Order: sequence, then structure tokens, then C-alpha cells
Amino acid sequence: MSTEILNYIGGEWRRPLSGEGLEVINPATGDVLGHSPSGGQGDVEAAVQAAAAAYQDWRAVPPAERIQYLFRLKHLLEEHFEEIARIITTENGKTLAEARGELRRGVENVEVACGIPTLMQGYNLEDVARGIDELMFRQPLGVVAAITPFNFPAMIPLWFLPYAIACGNTFILKPSDRVPLSMARIVDLIGQTGLPAGVVNVVNGGKGAVDALLDNPAVQAVSFVGSTPVARYIYARASANGKRVQCQGGAKNHVVVLPDADPETTTQIIADSAYGCAGQRCLAVSVAVTVGDARQWFRDSITKTAASLRVGDGLADGVQMGPVISHASQRRIESLIKAGTEQGAMAAVDGRGIAPSGLTHGSFVGPTVLDGVPATSELAETEIFGPVLSLIHAADIDEAIAIISRNSYGNASSIFTSSGAAARKFRNQIPTGNVGVNIGVAAPMAYFPFSGWKGSFLGVLHAQGRDAVEFYTDKKVVIERWPKEWSRKF
Ligand code: NAD
Repeated sequence: MSTEILNYIGGEWRRPLSGEGLEVINPATGDVLGHSPSGGQGDVEAAVQAAAAAYQDWRAVPPAERIQYLFRLKHLLEEHFEEIARIITTENGKTLAEARGELRRGVENVEVACGIPTLMQGYNLEDVARGIDELMFRQPLGVVAAITPFNFPAMIPLWFLPYAIACGNTFILKPSDRVPLSMARIVDLIGQTGLPAGVVNVVNGGKGAVDALLDNPAVQAVSFVGSTPVARYIYARASANGKRVQCQGGAKNHVVVLPDADPETTTQIIADSAYGCAGQRCLAVSVAVTVGDARQWFRDSITKTAASLRVGDGLADGVQMGPVISHASQRRIESLIKAGTEQGAMAAVDGRGIAPSGLTHGSFVGPTVLDGVPATSELAETEIFGPVLSLIHAADIDEAIAIISRNSYGNASSIFTSSGAAARKFRNQIPTGNVGVNIGVAAPMAYFPFSGWKGSFLGVLHAQGRDAVEFYTDKKVVIERWPKEWSRKF
């Protein structure tokens, strides 16, 4: 059934002024779920006006009152948890279990933002000079915007929205035009909390909507999550327009498998990381660097596990991996597998050309293992963003660290070992923002920053937790002198 995709502006659903853009497709079945608007200046202008009009009143609402809306949202999200998880699976393709995991992570950000009366506090010092006191307050910025990707339709918008509004800003979301439905349902629930009109707005669309946000002088700050080329573009354009910007980009994540790692759990955890969400997680492992004797046992066990995974519609019982987001993505991933084999790798498990029964219109790529990818090949550097695990061999941990350090991305890396000394060395030397020790998906909890270094992040302050509070507030320092001779005696 096709759904009309509307914008949420000033507390009401409005038909977009722009024409139809991208088709929203269930990637498991190929069914058309709706059409995102092509997005444009008029819709963004209306959203910015609504957000700007709501700002002065909203920033004056005491923080302890502002969070009451988030407590209500948390309860509504719990009440509608299964329904939202099903929408995520339907528009994104990930399995229902993965959709539930995503939504849980999103809800955790709502919970953490409920701590704003404590998190937003400033600090002060009496008598910085005789009779002079100094105080630091954190104040909201005004209208802020977030532009988010397809792979976590609900969680990533919730990395930003709860903190932004809890800090007293008003907020505009531009969700991915490939998956606008999950946030449409969540924003419906936000409306039910009684949140004042204009505090949260959604403009659907593509590049046109993004550019209008980046160029609008009333938008004070922009958060972005998506691919690195778009992150660079948004960072440059928004910064040139004087905005505060944080941009999380693409990734090429590695795990190092040392010979002393436990074979069974290591294989299971790495398989979950490489093939969970069909490899479309920014923290998914893309390359396993095996050291010494780990080469043989890991290749054998990961090959067996990858070949055994059940691929299909994420809504169906027992399915362990869903489709990739689109046919274009499927073609791109398949061509990268081909490139890998041309660059010297061997497809120990080849996921090209699979079609789970009854799903001939879906965009599926099966779990793939590319053995012996040369460490210096183009593929070793390229983000695949699909269920493809490359195997590279290193003589020792130093060589493994050197291979990872050469990569232009720096989102995440992990080591699998039973040696504390090796783990500590890795943790200390590896140039990625998120690090796992015997962890496959090193995803920071909501009360830690979602880090990311090098080509995976542009900016200073990350999403989530205290960084989010810093990003969404400015510091005002007040220096006060009240000489007693100026005061009447009471
Ligand atoms: P994308 O860059 O194509 O799109 C992200 C957002 O930008 C969408 O809202 C899209 O409409 C908009 N957009 C796309 N092209 C644009 C353009 N030319 N100008 C202006 N706006 C544009 O990313 P995607 O395919 O939706 O998501 C996958 C990417 O996101 C992967 O590279 C993945 O690694 C990355 N990602 C990173 C993180 C992280 O935390 N670092 C998290 C999730 C996803």
C-alpha cells in the first residue's frame, strides 16, 4: 500500500510544495511504499519559519518541564515499539530483531536527554578577583537541523532530536528520502506528547531540501550522518555559511584476529558484525586481518558460518539477514565483489545473484567472504556497505595495526584476543574513534559520544551524550561585580 509522504511543519502534517522524488521501496519485496517529495526551498522555508517562531517561547520553558515531553515520548515509543520496528524492517530491509535493536538504541537517547537539567548545567566561581564572581551558563543555539541516512531510519534521527530540543533549540529533520516512514510514525507520536507546535519539524526530500537548510541564515547548526563525499560537501557549505557543523561519514572497519582468540565466539561475533543489517551498519566489520595461525582456522570457520546464514524478508521468522537497500546498491556491491576477485582475492563464499524463494523483486546480496584481498588493493580502501567480508593476512600485530592505520577512514576497529597486553597495545595505537576488544560492533551507548576519526568524521563534537549537549548549546560567561557601596542598606 502506498503512503502519502507529508512534511511536519508547525505541528501539522502538510503536503509538500515540491513534486515527487525518490520511490520508497520495500527492499525485500520491491513493493512501492510511497514517493518522497523532491524537496525544495519552499518547504524548508516554511519549516524554518515555524521553528524560528517557536524558539523564544520554547527556550524559556524550564529544562525540567521540557523533558516531560521526552518522558511522554519514551512511553509512547515503548507502547508502539513493535509497530515501529515493523515499519523500520519494511522500509529498510533489516530483520525484525535488528529493527528492535535499533529502536532500543534510539529510545536510550531519549532517556539520556531526560537528564538535561543536570547535563546542561554550567559552572561558576566566586571571587575570581576581589568582589567579582564569574558564571558560565549554557544556552540553546536557536533553530538546528539534522540530515540523516537510510541505514538507521529511527535511531540516527534520535541521536540528535531529543538532545536538541531538551537543550531548548527548535529542530528540523531531513530524513533519508529512501526511508521516511519510521520517523513519520515517531513524529506522529511526538505530536501526541503535546509538544508545542514548531519545536520539531520534518521536511522530506533530497539534495534540494538539504541545500535549502544549509543556506538558510536562521539555521544555526547542522548535524549530518551519511557517506563521506556528502559529509565533506555539507561540512564545507554549512561552515562557509557560518554554521556549527558535525558530519559523520562513511567507514571501512577492521577487526584483528590474533591466534589466541577463541575460535568459536570470535567467528560468531565477527559474522554478526559483517552480515548483520546486511553489512549496512557504519560499524560493520568490512575487513578481518588475521595474524599468524589465525589465518587458517578463521577462514574455515567464517566461510562455514557465512554460507549457513538464512537470507530473506526481514519480517519472516528465522531469517538472519535481509536485503540491501536498493537494486542500485545490489549492483554496486556485486561489482565490488567482482573487482575484488579481479584484484587478487578469491570469493570463498559468493553472494552474487541470489534470490530467496518468492522474493524475485527484492534486492538481495548473500553473505560473501573475499579471501586474500591484497592489503594495498583499491578494494581494501573502498567502503562496500554490504554483506562482504574481506580477509587480509598479517605476520604480526604491528603489521595489522599498520594496515588499519593506512586506511583513510577511522570509524571503528576491534581486536580479538585473550592477551591483555595485545589488547592494550591495540587500544592505545589504533587510529579509530570507536574501539572494540572482543566486541564486533563497537557502538557507544547513548551516554558516550558516538566517535569516529579521520575520513569518518568532520567536526569536533560527536553525537550522543555530553558531546550532544555541548554541540547544541553555546557557553555564555558572565562576570559580575556588585560593590557594596552601590547597594542600599536593607
Ligand atoms: P548518503 O550520504 O547518500 O545520504 C545521507 C543523507 O544525505 C540523506 O538524507 C540524503 O538525502 C542526503 N544526500 C544524499 N546525497 C546528497 C547530496 N549530494 N547533497 C546533499 N544531500 C545529500 O548516505 P546513505 O547512503 O543514506 O547512508 C549510508 C552511508 O552513511 C554510508 O557511507 C555509511 O557508512 C554512512 N553512515 C555513517 C555513520 C557514522 O556514524 N559515521 C552512521 C550511519 C551511516
